[in-house]
Amino acid sequence: MSDYLKMTRAELEAEQAALKKAYESYLKQDLHLDMSRGKPSSAQLDLSMEMLSLTDWQDDTGVDARNYGALEGLPEARRFFGEMLGLSEEEVIVGGNASLALMYYAVDVGWRKGFPGGDGPWMNCPSRKFLCPAPGYDRHFRVTEYFGFELITIPMTETGPDMDMVEKYAADPDVKGIWCVPLYSNPDGYCYSDETVRRLAGMVTGAPDFKIMWDNAYGVHHLTDDHPTLLNIMEACTSAGHPNRPLLFCSTSKITFSGAGVSAMGASRDLIAYFAKQMFPMTISYDKMNQLRHVRYLKDMEQVARHMLRHRALLLPKFKTVLGALEEQLAPCGAIARWTEPKGGYFVSLYTMAGCAKRTVELCRGAGVVLTGAGAAYPYGLDPADSNIRIAPSLPPVEELAVAADLLCLCVRLATLEKLLAA
Ligand code: PLP
Repeated sequence: MSDYLKMTRAELEAEQAALKKAYESYLKQDLHLDMSRGKPSSAQLDLSMEMLSLTDWQDDTGVDARNYGALEGLPEARRFFGEMLGLSEEEVIVGGNASLALMYYAVDVGWRKGFPGGDGPWMNCPSRKFLCPAPGYDRHFRVTEYFGFELITIPMTETGPDMDMVEKYAADPDVKGIWCVPLYSNPDGYCYSDETVRRLAGMVTGAPDFKIMWDNAYGVHHLTDDHPTLLNIMEACTSAGHPNRPLLFCSTSKITFSGAGVSAMGASRDLIAYFAKQMFPMTISYDKMNQLRHVRYLKDMEQVARHMLRHRALLLPKFKTVLGALEEQLAPCGAIARWTEPKGGYFVSLYTMAGCAKRTVELCRGAGVVLTGAGAAYPYGLDPADSNIRIAPSLPPVEELAVAADLLCLCVRLATLEKLLAA
């Protein structure tokens, strides 16, 4: 194997012929492998099965979890998630099974009702916009697209979104907020630096009710011991004089059960009261039995950290398998691809040469390996460079993942050769 960018045309053609043969042998294997979504494996889900044996029904303040009431969540659960989000109990609403539903709800409230101190319901602003650091989480972008926002792509960097650009756009009163996955971003695995957090907290915004959608979905999902620490966004915003700017989110989806865990939303006390008032017509209370089960099982942040080490033991070999394949099979080919080496979270982000991502995904699919669609991590599903591929290593067993990763490398090389030979 040698550097594709230094090969003669004849050498590239010979390489292509050899790789096509290898690809054909994969076709004969009739593979059905999936690296498309960040789902925990069943072994990871097994880690929390014990939780289901808990039948506690009364929280430590005496609230009966079996009955209606406590719309903002069980006091014991609000304390637990407050600790997780770096907030006080009064700054938290504990919700249902999915943080995405709380994010949707928060944008919906802004859209229908607006926020205190703002310019009225966001729906009344016909040219409303939302900032979308990309690559990012497709479902975030989908929420704001659904509510009629124009999605503004902000390039991600290793320290968070390009803050010069964020500050420039945020000065526009039509820009109502920004999506953030501050720790182990989906899909790059990048972590926001202290400077990024301070700039987000302190920047001048044209919209008085600008919201930072702070989705700390991977806040405890470390893959190494020397994990980064994230500046407390609420403290940063409060000391900059903007306590109503951040809305924080997290869930136990990748701690206990995906889609059957507990979610939480954090905000200033005033905004929590405002959200609870808007929730009142919608529900009497969320599933507090599940909240109590989770809190009694996970106990506190020390116990969560121990639990996450068991996830890490299952996840780490998978990340190593993917990263090892990329290093062994793509690095020798020169600058045809680069990839992130995350210290936590659920994804590896692969960047092919411009114009090769879609073709790579198509070749993989043709041989039975499903990847997230190329471009999915960009607003409107459009990666302007057609370069990014999100790899989700958590679900398949290591042996299957090894096959899928080998095939992926082969497809990157084939797609690159097609591109180089077409030039
Ligand atoms: N936020 C991010 C950044 C995610 O990657 C995911 C799932 O992949 C979610 C939220 C979904 O969380 P939940 O299951 O709590 O809705």
